[in-house]
Amino acid sequence: MAREAPGSLESLRARNRARALAVLQRRGAASQADIVRETGLSRTTVSSLVAELLEEGIVVERADSARPAPSPSGGRPATLLSLEPSSGGFIGVDFGREIVRVAIANRAGELLVDARSDRLEVAHQAERALAVAEAMVSRALNETELQSDRVLGAGVAVSAPVRADSPEFASGVIFPSWAEVNVAEFFGGRLGVPVHVGNDANLGALAEATFGVGRSHRDVFYVMLSEGIGGGVIIDGRIYLGHAGAAGELGHIVVNPDGQICRCGNRGCLATVAGGAALTAALRQIHGPHMTVDELITLSGTGDQGATRLLTDAGEAVGRVLAGICGVLDPELVIIGGELAPAGRPLLDSITNSLERWISPASGHYPVALGELGGKAEVLGAIALAMSHVPDQTLAPLADRQPNAAEPQQGNRRARSRRAKSRPE
Ligand SMILES: [Zn+2]
Repeated sequence: MAREAPGSLESLRARNRARALAVLQRRGAASQADIVRETGLSRTTVSSLVAELLEEGIVVERADSARPAPSPSGGRPATLLSLEPSSGGFIGVDFGREIVRVAIANRAGELLVDARSDRLEVAHQAERALAVAEAMVSRALNETELQSDRVLGAGVAVSAPVRADSPEFASGVIFPSWAEVNVAEFFGGRLGVPVHVGNDANLGALAEATFGVGRSHRDVFYVMLSEGIGGGVIIDGRIYLGHAGAAGELGHIVVNPDGQICRCGNRGCLATVAGGAALTAALRQIHGPHMTVDELITLSGTGDQGATRLLTDAGEAVGRVLAGICGVLDPELVIIGGELAPAGRPLLDSITNSLERWISPASGHYPVALGELGGKAEVLGAIALAMSHVPDQTLAPLADRQPNAAEPQQGNRRARSRRAKSRPE
């Protein structure tokens, strides 16, 4: 998308427009006077911007504005404006290890679709996974009132480092069958909109910092505890990629030099000690060969001492690594997400205690919270990534319009019902 030179009249107008739209997105409905008050823009500017947005169909006058209370001055009641939900939307796609997930949100910040594929060998079947994702996107567009020509952008989460300057998915090291695939080109060609690709842990971080438990924080460190371990750094509300797109990758920090060989080729990485694959492997001798992360969590929830011990030991190792990371990054909040996060208290308490034990006394205090978004963090992060590239779009919490779409996590003390509060229709 073409951007105007900073400082030009056009860029000033674009910024003012984004500020006016942000008021509508935040409040759901607002009068021109509200927009003037909240943005500090002049009445003339707001009036001209609103006329333009009404003309483009991005903003509508609300049908219920005919009978609001009279204005305090006793004049004519103010007409309320709101965003036209169908005036634009965003697609998110998440290529997980075993499922594909597709979500659509409109520009008013309502989550319209959150769909999951059946189980699928995503890592080893790139072509099949892409075909499944393409079919899911087209079904999701059909289900919503969003016309495909109103799609403003798409984001895709992949399980590999993604560099800012080469945003294709090209890490054969992690998913061999994807080595030659350019995800941005694949979807860009089909959707005809800009497609932005991000690492799944980075996008999980962005989602939690935008829509989830970290939404009131600007500097966040996110840990994705799944089969493997990933991490994401959010600085001043944006993903920090690092030089090679690998910032935040704590899973391959060596914690036991005499430990097991890791798939990265090193020995004793954090992932070999605290990753879901390592934990389930440890339980297979007792509980049989088909142990999964979900079963491990269920076992711990029913009081199985071995399962709980594994989780607390894993938390101890993660907390020790986090002590080093917090000492360097000094985040406001540490968020624990991924498939192991629903384990709740045993894991969270162990991480918190270990972090407090190992952090330098000269450092600050670093609160640790479980993520709120569960398995949809990555796909919502993909939507947030797409939104962040559209100048008019504000990154505000999404309102969930899907019944039963929330995935409550055990032990999440900070879970709030905010997402269930939908805007007035
Ligand atoms: Zn490793």
